[in-house]
Amino acid sequence: VDLTPGQRRTLRDLIGRGRAPPFDPSLADRTRERLDEALADAGVVAADGTSVWLGKRPLTAGERCQALFRAIQMRERPEFEHSTPTAAGALLHKAIELDIGTEREADCRSICCGAADRLRAADRAFRRYWSDLDRFEAAELVAEAGRRLGLFRDSFPPLPRAWSPQAELRVRVRLAGGGVVLSGAPDLVIGRSRRLVVDFKSGRALPEHPEDMRFYALLLLLRTGVPPYRVATFFLDSGEWQAEDVTDRTIERAMDRVVEAAALACRLSRGLEPTLSPGGHCRWCPRRSDCPAVDSSLEMRSRPRRSAG
Ligand code: SF4
Repeated sequence: VDLTPGQRRTLRDLIGRGRAPPFDPSLADRTRERLDEALADAGVVAADGTSVWLGKRPLTAGERCQALFRAIQMRERPEFEHSTPTAAGALLHKAIELDIGTEREADCRSICCGAADRLRAADRAFRRYWSDLDRFEAAELVAEAGRRLGLFRDSFPPLPRAWSPQAELRVRVRLAGGGVVLSGAPDLVIGRSRRLVVDFKSGRALPEHPEDMRFYALLLLLRTGVPPYRVATFFLDSGEWQAEDVTDRTIERAMDRVVEAAALACRLSRGLEPTLSPGGHCRWCPRRSDCPAVDSSLEMRSRPRRSAG
């Protein structure tokens, strides 16, 4: 296959060629044992069939504001409503999934129309959002997703079946006898034995992006027994990426965050008064309207806006 310079660069510098570096086959078992021990030491136990659910967003919330974290744990968020950027992001992710599944046999617009059909059938929030669009707005949304899908194709070489590419791979891991459940769905996983894990973003780089990817490295290690060789956040607008080769340090960092968040969830459930830490994240907080820490000027300036990634 003739590759473009951009595709060659991604193949050479991100996906990599040749054999992935070796890893310790006992790493997954050791990691699980250490996690279970640390969670037990932190007082995290399965009780009354309840579990602490942790994914990349709750983990980030826990580091920003304890009350926001508690609100997420208590499922206080109102039902999700799409904005234009989130709807475009959802459409792009579904389009990438179809593009990989059909091995680029169709043009970008056809793929995105197919993606919109599937989302309308399967995703209530997207169906609601779509039903409010007139035909021009709907066409704009599909065109925007098509442009971004084109950027994906420009950036990534065709992904052959032999590489086992998987989009939106849902992964779930139980720890501490079910007291903690880790879950996530990285945008793209490439590789049959050792894997590259990629999340796509349309906006700017944020501090939580590398932490999100370390969490995915831990999740894949615990689920498959094999650590990814690399994790990366890929920015479609620029064709740039932030990558990290997965090492013991990567896994340890992700473990520390999981234990801290699970311990915090338990302390909060036992009556700890959450600390309020206002910031830009207040825009998304379900407790914002009643929160004494929110500055009224921030409230006035806040307008819902989410990254499409
Ligand atoms: S509004 Fe801000 S400070 Fe208040 S609970 Fe939510 S995130 Fe925390």
